[in-house]
Amino acid sequence: MDKPYLIWSNEHRAWWSPNRCGYTTVIEKAGRYERVEAIAIASAARGGWVAGKNPPEIALPEADALDQALSPNRLEAYLNARCQCGQPATTKYDGDQMCEPCATYCARRDFEEADMPG
Ligand SMILES: [Zn+2]
Repeated sequence: MDKPYLIWSNEHRAWWSPNRCGYTTVIEKAGRYERVEAIAIASAARGGWVAGKNPPEIALPEADALDQALSPNRLEAYLNARCQCGQPATTKYDGDQMCEPCATYCARRDFEEADMPG
């Protein structure tokens, strides 16, 4: 994903979680969205932006959101986060910081476990 976007919800006073699945006040755990998707969500959700009213949702480039939300120390920790396998963490999965292959593996494993009977 190049230049990921975050979505701030004024109504929930929180960030959209990954996969449009709820909200979080912890920016590191916020969902990362493609720009086109984030803009589409922010411009359409709850009637979209109306002149004279607070926008219900606002799409922000991840880098700009992090620079505004995090102290320098917390930002550095976030940017240097490593996956448990040692690779730089490039994606978020259920709030964990992972590299893309590990996140993909976990998503597939969780899907299959959820599919198991009993
Ligand atoms: Zn990994």
